[in-house]
Amino acid sequence: MTTEEKPANEEAVQTPVKAKSAKSRSYFYGAAMVAAIGMFVYVGGSVGTDMVRQVIGNSKGADQVMVTALMLNIALILLIWRRTTELSGEVDVYRKAEVRAQHLAITDPLTNLYNRRAIKDKTTELSARAARRGKSVAFLMVDLDGFKKINDLYGHDVGDQLLREAADRMREVVPPSSIVARLGGDEFGICMVFEPEYPETVDRVAEDLVEILARPVTIADTDQTVTGSIGISRPEFDCDSIDQLIRRADIALYAAKKNGRNGFSWFENGMEVELRTRNTLEADIRAAIPNDEFVPYFEQQINLETGKLVGFEMLARWVSPTRGLIPPDEFIPVAEETGMIGDLSMGIIRKALLEAKDWDPSLTVSVNISPVQLKDPWLAQKLVKLLVETGYPANRLEVEITESSLFKNLSLAQSIVGSLKNQGIQIALDDFGTGYSSLAHLRALPFDRIKIDRSFVSSMLDNAESEAIVNAIAGLGASLAVPITAEGIEDETVIAKLHELGCSKGQGWHYGQPMSIEQTRRLLADYGLLVGKAKPHKKKANKPKSGDDKDDKKVANG
Ligand code: C2E
Ligand code: MG
Ligand code: MG
Repeated sequence: MTTEEKPANEEAVQTPVKAKSAKSRSYFYGAAMVAAIGMFVYVGGSVGTDMVRQVIGNSKGADQVMVTALMLNIALILLIWRRTTELSGEVDVYRKAEVRAQHLAITDPLTNLYNRRAIKDKTTELSARAARRGKSVAFLMVDLDGFKKINDLYGHDVGDQLLREAADRMREVVPPSSIVARLGGDEFGICMVFEPEYPETVDRVAEDLVEILARPVTIADTDQTVTGSIGISRPEFDCDSIDQLIRRADIALYAAKKNGRNGFSWFENGMEVELRTRNTLEADIRAAIPNDEFVPYFEQQINLETGKLVGFEMLARWVSPTRGLIPPDEFIPVAEETGMIGDLSMGIIRKALLEAKDWDPSLTVSVNISPVQLKDPWLAQKLVKLLVETGYPANRLEVEITESSLFKNLSLAQSIVGSLKNQGIQIALDDFGTGYSSLAHLRALPFDRIKIDRSFVSSMLDNAESEAIVNAIAGLGASLAVPITAEGIEDETVIAKLHELGCSKGQGWHYGQPMSIEQTRRLLADYGLLVGKAKPHKKKANKPKSGDDKDDKKVANG
């Protein structure tokens, strides 16, 4: 894609330079011609007068030196005339090349649309023309969803074809006077004129764009589908420059992507603030990873039959010196979106495993793996490396994955899960019941455990639907011989019911909120469940602190 741009740009830069030099040479020859003609008139006049005098017998003839000068002068004029003719042809060629170079300088060679360099000037011109006619312009920032995946998977040729097709389709649906540009990669900008009282016209164009972009493209006998997300801005409402207009469309595009892609959003003032907040959060997370500010918290997991502590679910927390203690739903989505989740997660898991190494061998640790991490073909190797480095046994580690991560790439997920299981790591299906709850997914992967989402468990006593879902999942687990963990146990009354249904494990605030490393150590020391180099906790047993220090221990270990 970009390879074509280099020679084109070189030509665009060099041609005007050459044309300028040809033009200045032609001025030089023009001036030389004028001088030569002047000299010709002077010398010719003198020789002519002498010859006339010779004819009437007044003189002995023309001066020989002057005649030679006249001959040389004629030769000079002929020479300059020939050079000037040649040069005018050259200037003509350069003039045409200059026009082409100007075209190249503002055109994207792949799609033949305007390029990023041109969009600002062209939008400014169109906007001024529209204003003179009492009309307005809208700027549409279009981004292809899922393009990168196809580009990575099928190569740049297929990617290029897809971009060309997308460009043709866009040109097809926008009003004829619109400006369409490729701003780089899979991002396009469109500026269109509309009647300010009827912004619905822009909505309709955006709808058509979304619809036409989502149609499959047949490339090399395969159907490829990408969709388009669009952010729209208009210059009224305190927008004082074209730069700002384009930036606002970009902000609105971000909102369109956040709203699920394959759609469009108009810019609203709140979006700018939201984006700024999010960007600050992203920068803070980036800085917090090397600063070691992400730490594991641990939530107790209890055997519902014996009431004994059998392990912990590790839950990430951000202990920020400026923001305080931040729960995972505030930073995990940003870390996922920006590709930081891998490093962040591995850092916390490492800390958790180093800590869990000192626990009694009967205790397990469960870690959550994000759907984004399940796209990493090296995930299993990375986890195994952590186990080796920390010396934590694989058979005491459980990896929790959610159903949604299986949709993205089931075969890759199967291969990762296969590698993990080969190492003896247990696999749990987290938050079951909240997504598709598909039997096919349950069968596609050899899960060691299903976790019923806390939303059903915590409401099962006063919501018949929740109770029915818990019953159904418990039944499913029994028939597939997969043990069940119930999340979100908030009071004693549900425990008996869950046990009756065959749930083997449970966790929830009834047993205590997630605890810091130190709180967990104190609890385990109280139970006599710390081994290794760990120092036993001095405090008397049976009064462990919970995450917010308000829950008492409800577990009978020992
Ligand atoms: P999850 O895996 O379903 O985690 C359990 C969540 O339920 C935890 O919230 C826990 O504090 C909460 N919870 C437990 N018992 C109760 C209860 O009785 N009542 C209520 N209302 N809530 C309860 P937390 O720690 O806020 O985590 C939320 C989600 O964040 C987790 O859901 C998990 O999906 C994600 N998460 C946490 N740590 C990590 C991590 O290290 N990596 C990834 N990828 N995700 C993580
Ligand atoms: Mg979980
Ligand atoms: Mg869960």
